[in-house]
Amino acid sequence: MSGKTTMEKLVSLAKRRGFIYPGSEFYGGLAGFWDYGPMGVELKRNIENLWWKMFVQSVPNIYGLDAAIIMNQKVWQASGHAEGFSDLMVECKECKKRYRADHIKSDRCLECGGDLGEASLFNMMFETRVGAKQDEDSKTYLRPETAQGIFVNFKNVLDSYSPKMPFGIAQIGKAFRNEISPRDFVFRSREFTQMEIEYFVEEKNWEKEFDNWLLFMREWNEALGLKNVKEIDTPRDNLAHYSKKTIDFEYEFPFGRSELYGLAYRTDYDLKKHMEESGEDLRYRPHEGEPFLPHVIEPTFGLDRTILALLNEHYNENGERGVWLALPYKLAPVKAAVFPLLRNKEELVSKAREIYSSLRKEIPGVAWDDNGNVGKRYRRQDEVGTPFCVTIDFDTLEGEENSKDTVTVRNRDTMKQERVAIDDLVDYLKEKIGI
Ligand code: ATP
Repeated sequence: MSGKTTMEKLVSLAKRRGFIYPGSEFYGGLAGFWDYGPMGVELKRNIENLWWKMFVQSVPNIYGLDAAIIMNQKVWQASGHAEGFSDLMVECKECKKRYRADHIKSDRCLECGGDLGEASLFNMMFETRVGAKQDEDSKTYLRPETAQGIFVNFKNVLDSYSPKMPFGIAQIGKAFRNEISPRDFVFRSREFTQMEIEYFVEEKNWEKEFDNWLLFMREWNEALGLKNVKEIDTPRDNLAHYSKKTIDFEYEFPFGRSELYGLAYRTDYDLKKHMEESGEDLRYRPHEGEPFLPHVIEPTFGLDRTILALLNEHYNENGERGVWLALPYKLAPVKAAVFPLLRNKEELVSKAREIYSSLRKEIPGVAWDDNGNVGKRYRRQDEVGTPFCVTIDFDTLEGEENSKDTVTVRNRDTMKQERVAIDDLVDYLKEKIGI
């Protein structure tokens, strides 16, 4: 249901309901940094878990990895990032505001109208020093992509598992880019999470494997319910230095269509560079035939952009009902909320508490709410996308034969209410949620 909302509404919902807060907020914030609150962190984990399940645990030839964020500076020299990970930047001569040259169409500053000077290169890696000595040798960077951590562990995985080709290494982790102009909420931030796979193939098979990954990525978009995704084949002269083919998955965000994910054929560029620079033999040795350097297909997914796309896609609002997030059940931060009809009736509260604790043992993400009337509680749960609300009422305690020991379960999407026996509740919810 995209196209109906605005960034202001999404930012406001995210803050109000604890999905995403501005970083370092009461010190004036820090541009490009965001903190995930109680709902955000659950949503993030659910996305990561679904991704890991779909792309790592369900695929026989993908190996997981969690490499260090900080690596020897030689990694970044070999990969070309120390020299080349730069954007052209222009700076206003009056107010000193900086813009990425390819993001600004005018030669005047958007803020004060001042003259924008000549474009110059700006390296986007955050520099840091390791250890007590502050010299050139101690210099390194916060990684600007997770991919290099995979390439430097390629040989380790080969040695540990002797995998057959093709195979992949997957990683979820933070990446840092000192973006010239962070903007559009978490779309362009300076600290973000990537979910990436480097898939190693024989050169002659790259096209077939690329097409397989294209289908696999489409399945992911479907699982997330993202409808407005366009695939853009990057023209040859716009390709990154390491790539021979890239398809960008662009999503219709409220501020316009922009890159959500990418699928790139990186050739053997990275392994070759690391082999040259480190002197380590990174060739794959098949049972028969000559050793060779594998080629690489790289599907890459930005987690923060995924969250923004999900909030946008599933945001709904009408005057009567207010806001509801129709998130896929598996991703919803809270799967079920438990309400005692009245908070001042001890017998209702204790029965509700009993049900709440037994649900919590079986279902991840069960909340308790006894604040205000049931209508208000529905609204609150709708705003964070809770698919099921369970109310314990007087019928639960002392109703007729067919309503005693049952609860009311209200569905977020249909708003229909059903009576479900307490004994069947766990199975009922598990089946509906698909866990
Ligand atoms: P862009 O052109 O938007 O700067 P990119 O092509 O440089 O992105 P990649 O280097 O391919 O991006 O990074 C892989 C993925 O990481 C992107 O598809 C995106 O989802 C995510 N990503 C990249 N930069 C950022 C950022 N500054 N903030 C949030 N996510 C990002």
